[in-house]
Amino acid sequence: MKISVVGSGYVGLVTGACLAESGVTVTCVDVDENKIDKLKNGVIPIYEPGLEQIVENNVAKNRLFFTTSLEESLKGAEAVFIAVGTPPDEDGSADLKYVLGVAKEIGQYIEDYTVVITKSTVPIGTAIKVKAAVQESLITRNADIDFDVASNPEFLKEGAAIDDFMKPDRIVIGVESEKSKSILSRVYKPFVMNGHPIIYMDIPSAELTKYTANAMLATKISFMNDIANLCEIVGADIGMVRKGIGSDTRIGNKFIYAGAGYGGSCFPKDVKAIIKTSDEYNHSLEILKSVEDVNDRQKEKIYNKISNHFNGNLKGKRIALWGLSFKPNTDDMREAPALTIISKLKEAGANVVAYDPVAMEEAKRRLGDAIEYVDDQYDALKNADALAIITEWIEFRTPDFNKMESLLNEKIIFDGRNIYDLEEMQEKEWKYYSIGRKAII
Ligand code: NAD
Repeated sequence: MKISVVGSGYVGLVTGACLAESGVTVTCVDVDENKIDKLKNGVIPIYEPGLEQIVENNVAKNRLFFTTSLEESLKGAEAVFIAVGTPPDEDGSADLKYVLGVAKEIGQYIEDYTVVITKSTVPIGTAIKVKAAVQESLITRNADIDFDVASNPEFLKEGAAIDDFMKPDRIVIGVESEKSKSILSRVYKPFVMNGHPIIYMDIPSAELTKYTANAMLATKISFMNDIANLCEIVGADIGMVRKGIGSDTRIGNKFIYAGAGYGGSCFPKDVKAIIKTSDEYNHSLEILKSVEDVNDRQKEKIYNKISNHFNGNLKGKRIALWGLSFKPNTDDMREAPALTIISKLKEAGANVVAYDPVAMEEAKRRLGDAIEYVDDQYDALKNADALAIITEWIEFRTPDFNKMESLLNEKIIFDGRNIYDLEEMQEKEWKYYSIGRKAII
């Protein structure tokens, strides 16, 4: 079986590599020549644990190929996955120009029956637009070639993407014909040996399922952040509240951690996009509008705590940041809370010195010389007036507090991820601000 995957970013590359691992022949396509050159030379352009090994293995076995030519990738392919970006448009809706551009090109090159599967996160009605775009190109070519569209949203998490793809909780597929269903069943059979289901449904439901999943997760986070803020006012501890509710199986213990706000390439843009789609149908998603507002405020929370501590005078203060990526195990900084905090600190005249285990290159690309970078977490603390922890990388969890004390000007930590015990910080006599818990001052 031959498959084409268009877009070789987080989703496309992981999809292509994992499908190849199951034995099929996959060609990954991208318009970014630099990315394809790197991949051809065995260089993985993103940080994703386990990905390099799978890519290497399947390239060596002649099952995984990279090209900039969509036409070449479609030769003999029974299925083509569209996994290009769907960034937010100016009004917050998902910008479909890449998806529809690819669809149009697919129509220019397919030679035989093909299933055209949208894996990118796209609003309801996109499959119909993809179908029209392919059809339009076929008409222009005067070609009578059968094809189907399908929707197969991706639920992988950056940082655990390989595991999520190889052993998914479920696979959601929206189909319009038995023929496409049977091809997709063959593609995915090796990945549901764990007994987890492939859930087939109509295409609009599949498209909406993806947004609903991300919107629900974002809602859980904002809800807990809102409660955390109440905790600070009334003197409760969000950690205790979380444990108290998380043991209720109806609620569950995942995604209920308070923190510095959600970021990343998916939640912010998908929440915006579903709000926009719904508005277009004259249905206002009030809960999600609040989820967004709460998150925007939450991303400023740590900055506000720093500013309050220094009585609003941050001019010339040197603030060390641990963690830049939007979450651990990724170098992705899209919509990362660190970006908001850095921008606010700079605006207030502070100097920022930052360390992240893997996102340094990405940070340099985004921020240039606006901040200082160090290669060691402790180097960030030299002569710094405070430490702010923005990403909960595991290496920050049990640091050498004595060493930290000897390097910082003042024993003070602003913890955006609640990674230290209050009792321990109290005992060690640190000033310690976290989220939804009492400040130790
Ligand atoms: P990405 O930006 O990492 O990758 C997209 C790739 O598509 C880029 O390499 C880009 O060069 C390429 N591209 C753009 N136009 C192209 C074209 N015409 N032909 C070939 N390649 C083209 O994006 P991503 O994070 O992989 O996300 C892709 C989609 O998957 C988005 O809709 C996203 O919402 C969704 N998604 C992402 C994640 C995630 O964790 N990143 C998870 C689930 C779903």
